Amino acid sequence: MTEKNTAFLDLVPGYQPREIVASLERGFACLGLGGTLRPGDRVLLKPNLVVPRSPEKAVTTHPEIVRGVAKLLKDCGARLFIGDSPGFGTLERCLEKGGLKPVLREMDITPVSFDRARTIHDPDNLVGKRLELAEAAFEYDQVVNLAKLKTHGMMGSTLAVKNLFGFVVGFNKAAWHFRAGHDRRLFARIMLDIYRQVQPAWNLVDGIVAMEGEGPTHGQARKCNLLALGRKAPALDYLVEEWAGFKQMTPLSTESRNLGLLDPETARALGPAVAQPLKPPLKPARAAQAATFPGHRIWHRLLVRRPRVSSSRCHRCGVCIQHCPAKAMQLLREKVVIDYRKCISCYCCQELCPYGAVQVKHAFNLF
Ligand code: SF4
Ligand code: SF4
Repeated sequence: MTEKNTAFLDLVPGYQPREIVASLERGFACLGLGGTLRPGDRVLLKPNLVVPRSPEKAVTTHPEIVRGVAKLLKDCGARLFIGDSPGFGTLERCLEKGGLKPVLREMDITPVSFDRARTIHDPDNLVGKRLELAEAAFEYDQVVNLAKLKTHGMMGSTLAVKNLFGFVVGFNKAAWHFRAGHDRRLFARIMLDIYRQVQPAWNLVDGIVAMEGEGPTHGQARKCNLLALGRKAPALDYLVEEWAGFKQMTPLSTESRNLGLLDPETARALGPAVAQPLKPPLKPARAAQAATFPGHRIWHRLLVRRPRVSSSRCHRCGVCIQHCPAKAMQLLREKVVIDYRKCISCYCCQELCPYGAVQVKHAFNLF
């Protein structure tokens, strides 16, 4: 067993500050994370702030997680910063709606906008030989990755590795989605390129209240009581997916294994949650289920799940049209219409629609 293959999985009854700090202290002790920080270090916290949503919706990292982590790091003498590049809306709006503003004030955490990008040329990257990532990823002594446990239509799950996609600035996210198209393996490799560049000091998955079903933004909140920590994000993600009852390895975990970033044979979870895996398992997103159907490539046209816009729910705000990487959406006669010849089934429209007007359905509603 090596540190890259270990994670600490704890059971925490709810978002009570004292319980969270106690759990973090157990995790730190178990994984030996305490020694990674020197007094005065500048630490960037990277929560999941994909869209402006209130904490009880389980879309974003809970503010009490940020408070607990901040307390622990401040006790070690760290100076704290927080940032993300939301898929929709501003950082300011996400911090406000996500209940983080009071925590930032109390714990003296400075918000950092991800609007400046640094271009990285790395021939060892798998896909992104030239990557543009937020400058903030490289300006601090440490990045601490605070992810949320959620299902995901395209990738099966969104956990610690996927959370780092927030370091891609603004509309560049759409460009990577477009480049990957339907290819989930390629998209996983892009995520792993980003992970290799950012190299968080350690990673957390907030699954005290997780999201199942139509994640990452329109699923159901489910109390799972899980708080998980790991030094290496690929192992942490894999062990959390296993705990949550995923039937198959997600594309990200599969690629992590293929690239030697994860060894499922020796990966080992420690902590009280290990003896109590989630029952029933986390309900997957329908689109992710369809993608694992045998022969799904052959029957792609039949089996692929397509986004549909509900006219009665749609407010014609244009967010989906603006963010569609394939430019497959347009407003025609007061209705949002989708050109399915262009659509790459990335489900960004479903993820970012503020009104839940985009549903992902089977092309012929067979399933
Ligand atoms: S589907 Fe959603 S995001 Fe698109 S225009 Fe309608 S309300 Fe806005
Ligand atoms: S229509 Fe939706 S699912 Fe299709 S490419 Fe555009 S954003 Fe992605």
